[in-house]
Amino acid sequence: MHVKVALLASALAVAAVPAFAQQTRSPAVPPPTVVPQPTPQQSTVPAPPRPTVIVTATVPMPLPPKPTVPSRPPVTVVVPPPAPTTPAGPGPVVVTLPAATATATPVPGEEVITTVEQARAAAAAAAARIAAEGAQAAINLDNLATVQGVPAYPNMPTVWPDPNESRGAINIPELLKAPLVVAGMAKVTAAVSPALLEIPPSLHTDQYGRVWYTGNTAQNCHWPSTKCHTPDASVGVLPDITSCPAPNTYGLTYDDGPSNAANASPSSLDLLTALAQQQQKATFFVVGGPIVFAPEALVRMYAEGHEIAVHSWTHSPLTTLTNEQIVAEILYTEALIYKILGVRPRYFRPPYGDVDNRVRAIIGALGYESILWTDVKDTMDTSPAQFPTLVTNVQTWFVQQPGFIALQHSRKSILRLLVQT
Ligand SMILES: [Zn+2]
Repeated sequence: MHVKVALLASALAVAAVPAFAQQTRSPAVPPPTVVPQPTPQQSTVPAPPRPTVIVTATVPMPLPPKPTVPSRPPVTVVVPPPAPTTPAGPGPVVVTLPAATATATPVPGEEVITTVEQARAAAAAAAARIAAEGAQAAINLDNLATVQGVPAYPNMPTVWPDPNESRGAINIPELLKAPLVVAGMAKVTAAVSPALLEIPPSLHTDQYGRVWYTGNTAQNCHWPSTKCHTPDASVGVLPDITSCPAPNTYGLTYDDGPSNAANASPSSLDLLTALAQQQQKATFFVVGGPIVFAPEALVRMYAEGHEIAVHSWTHSPLTTLTNEQIVAEILYTEALIYKILGVRPRYFRPPYGDVDNRVRAIIGALGYESILWTDVKDTMDTSPAQFPTLVTNVQTWFVQQPGFIALQHSRKSILRLLVQT
């Protein structure tokens, strides 16, 4: 579905969008670990014919109505089954990929955390580093163009978080006490049980998104630890979306943008050009900070018919944040998207997939559904050294199977991946 930017503000265009969201209510409790990072994978399975693509991207939501019924399908690209000329094989190809390890691959020079004490010390050091680097900075975006002709966004900020995401999570009182966050917290506390909101934050041990989960990973359905994406029904929280509803579909999703030529090569703009050439539509999970530096890329994403979804403001692992910080991460990004596009997204992807029942409950109370990706279908496209295996790995995913959602990133190597697959 193509939607021109000039039309985005149209109430009609918006009204056609399916409803989403839900309210949560119920409790659980907390636990520890390390956010796993899927290891690369090698497959000897012959790559099936490359897919020709088609498309269906859903369109972001408008502001007002707060639906109550969750809508399912994220988005995406329909991949036709193998061509009839495909030689008959020995049945469905089963691709077995290594499971993510409990401990992420150490980064050179990085400390490996193995105890709670180490995790606490690392978290304290990270907090000190953030303070030293100036996370207290806030900015004014009054000079940023605002879309005209749409209903006013309630509590539109006048002061915004630091766009430099490397400086850490939103942590200044002025921002956390702003009307935007206060109103968001009111929605959360009205919809979510205290027991869920009292799950204590986990420890963020480094700048790579690794988390030491101090609670009960199973009970709280912490996805990085247990791959749990369907909380117990009694918790009253929606499960994460991890697949496409129709068989043979590829949920094409790109995280961490937008970017432009000034800060990335190839950038989101190059990716958009490649997508247009191949007539594909995708979902972009965008980060608030980068939007400040490349608003034109966000506009182009939407204008060219892609879906815009939220991926936080600072790309911090959300289980490490307070409830107010999580609300701030989501709503400042939502507000900025609304300021620029005049629409409000309906889907959210937690950075690093770091989600538990507390985070899910907050996401849901703010009207979002959480989208992860299918089992190990992380293309690992941000690791250039692994690039030679990326295309092969992705091609092995194109087999007769339920629809899947794969993780790509819109900054760098993904452009090559897209072109070659
Ligand atoms: Zn991300």
